[in-house]
Amino acid sequence: MTRQPQVIPTLAAMRKALLPHRAAGAVIGLVPTMGALHAGHASLLRRARSECDVVVTSIYVNPTQFGPNEDFSSYPRRIEADIKTCADERVDYILAPSDKEMYGNGSLTRIYVDNITQKLCGMMRPGHFEGVCTVVAKLFNIVQPDLAYFGQKDAQQVVVLGRMVADLNIPVQIVVCPIVREPDGLAMSSRNANLSPAERQDGLCLSQALQAGLDAIAGGMTTSEPIIAIMRQKVLETETATIDYLGVYHPETLENLAQVEGMALLAGAIRLGSTRLIDNRIAELSPQRP
Ligand code: AMP
Repeated sequence: MTRQPQVIPTLAAMRKALLPHRAAGAVIGLVPTMGALHAGHASLLRRARSECDVVVTSIYVNPTQFGPNEDFSSYPRRIEADIKTCADERVDYILAPSDKEMYGNGSLTRIYVDNITQKLCGMMRPGHFEGVCTVVAKLFNIVQPDLAYFGQKDAQQVVVLGRMVADLNIPVQIVVCPIVREPDGLAMSSRNANLSPAERQDGLCLSQALQAGLDAIAGGMTTSEPIIAIMRQKVLETETATIDYLGVYHPETLENLAQVEGMALLAGAIRLGSTRLIDNRIAELSPQRP
């Protein structure tokens, strides 16, 4: 059953639309996105639909999280198809503001989370997480959701937003949803639309590298150095791919791990032509393991 979502272009109209729901004690769920929705986004919408009375998704390509030489202008935008996806997932409201609506007052304020934003993607994308945290904090203030849904696909983003919410006492529960993949293992991403057929094929090397890392751990390897070597080798077999980072990290502090004990985040970012892909897997070793 589809339900036609209401597309809301202004922040004031969004607040107004939610007033009666809030007064009635409805549980409000928010799924922030940049649009070009695919099955990964749909999984978040479906989870929100199953847990909330009212589902709001935002579709906004946030300029403040893109660096000057990044893909803001070529980022895929297809609002009509997105509205159809939201109807299929029975979303109630789509907040689709303009840049003027979001930042039109020349906003001087940015949210900066220290330390964990400087690692992994933060090393290569200075200012990126400031943009993410600022726009998500704004969305939280506008929608005031009880629950907010994010994908494990952006592993560092969920760690950073978790810290922001905890450190700033924002009254929202963050729900992290599993990564949805193509049948061949490629993590779904709006940016996959910008890959040529050859790049799309080459992009598989990242999920395969992470799988090789997981396999090595499952086979008893616990020292990160050789695990990383196996993963790097797998990516570098693909001549067109370059590595931004690829490693074994603590899942909360994002520090490099020398040894895999308990949980470890295997994560990487690669570049194929002008497209940057990220992916990750969680390895979990039970403490009883000999
Ligand atoms: P984006 O539109 O790329 O900003 O993504 C919006 C939300 O969807 C973020 O929380 C992402 O982590 C999540 N997401 C993107 N791709 C996937 C995927 N393949 N599986 C699960 N969640 C995803």
